[in-house]
Amino acid sequence: MADFAVIGDPVGHSRSPRMHQAAYDALKLPYRYVAVHVGRGSVGKALDRLAALGYRGVNVTVPHKEEALAWAAQADELSRRIGAANTLRLATKEATNTDAGGFLDTIQGLAGREATMLGAGGTARALAAVLPGAGYQVRVWNRTRERAMALADEFGLSVLEEPTVDADLVVNTTSAGLHGDRLPLDWSEARNGTVAYDLVYGETPFLTEAAARGLRTIDGQSLLVAQGARSFEWWLGLTPSREAMAEAIR
Ligand code: NDP
Repeated sequence: MADFAVIGDPVGHSRSPRMHQAAYDALKLPYRYVAVHVGRGSVGKALDRLAALGYRGVNVTVPHKEEALAWAAQADELSRRIGAANTLRLATKEATNTDAGGFLDTIQGLAGREATMLGAGGTARALAAVLPGAGYQVRVWNRTRERAMALADEFGLSVLEEPTVDADLVVNTTSAGLHGDRLPLDWSEARNGTVAYDLVYGETPFLTEAAARGLRTIDGQSLLVAQGARSFEWWLGLTPSREAMAEAIR
């Protein structure tokens, strides 16, 4: 029995339990956070069961964020706009999405407002929902062009025929790096101050190539910490130590 959990399929690799545990420990809070494997189609039942067991909050990871939103009785405007929830309060069946705001936390202070987004999957939707409001002009490229066009239509972005790194911020939201796959990018198009950001954790071909060009790089660990810290705040009304959380997942 614990107080908080992350559900996903698969979820065994999740770094969220040790990250949240480090945040509780830093504040001397008596909570426990665990990873719970939930299969597709069983999300509602699993959440009801966790609520009955007295769990306070749940984080939701791939591929359950849409099902989690459907379970919620009170989803906030942001999670409804994105169509996915990653953070739930079980007693009240409330839902929010901390991926979007967490991403904005991680790019605070960057210069320039032209962004290229590579990929048009679930996480790209969360970014597309908030980047224009943060003043970014966003151009999106996706391997399957129709998905990029649908995303662009919905969120007021423009579509790229070919991927380019000619932007102030280039965010790779594809899962290509998970499999060590390269994207067809010409890094000589990069600007002096281009920042290369990959949502996948650790070294990916995308980040390795960007670093070789001398560009500033950010990997997915930053977003993991930022969305986790926002979930923590939403559940507990307390500010966690982002340093302790980052240290725990390194
Ligand atoms: P989705 O499955 O919804 O989308 C995957 C996207 O990647 C699609 O645009 C797909 O293109 C594209 N893609 C997959 N393989 C390739 C390839 N070999 N070459 C080019 N494009 C490819 O995934 P999510 O949006 O949920 O997640 C995307 C990534 O972000 C994952 O790797 C995930 O681990 C990471 N992530 C990290 C987080 C963090 O905290 N750091 C939080 C959330 C996600 P197509 O449409 O053509 O199939």
